[in-house]
Amino acid sequence: MTELSCERCGNQRAALDAAPFRDELGERIRRNICQTCWDEWLKRQMQLINHYALDVRTAEAREFLRRNVEAFLFGAGEADDIDTSQEGKITW
Ligand SMILES: [Zn+2]
Repeated sequence: MTELSCERCGNQRAALDAAPFRDELGERIRRNICQTCWDEWLKRQMQLINHYALDVRTAEAREFLRRNVEAFLFGAGEADDIDTSQEGKITW
């Protein structure tokens, strides 16, 4: 099992077996993010999908999740908050 020094949690942990996306971001995640943090993202992603009732087949939903995965794992850009006071304020 490959280990890496995770950019998000700072721990030496197991890496992902494969890049989660077939692009530069996926490769960046595979090289810099541990399995534990990725699992945390998957839970967060599920919360976002449920909260915003996202249809993951749409390009808009995928773009939304991409923006959030980057913010969640790398602290880049803006994460969309799961705050019910923000409901309806999401802009596609
Ligand atoms: Zn980590």
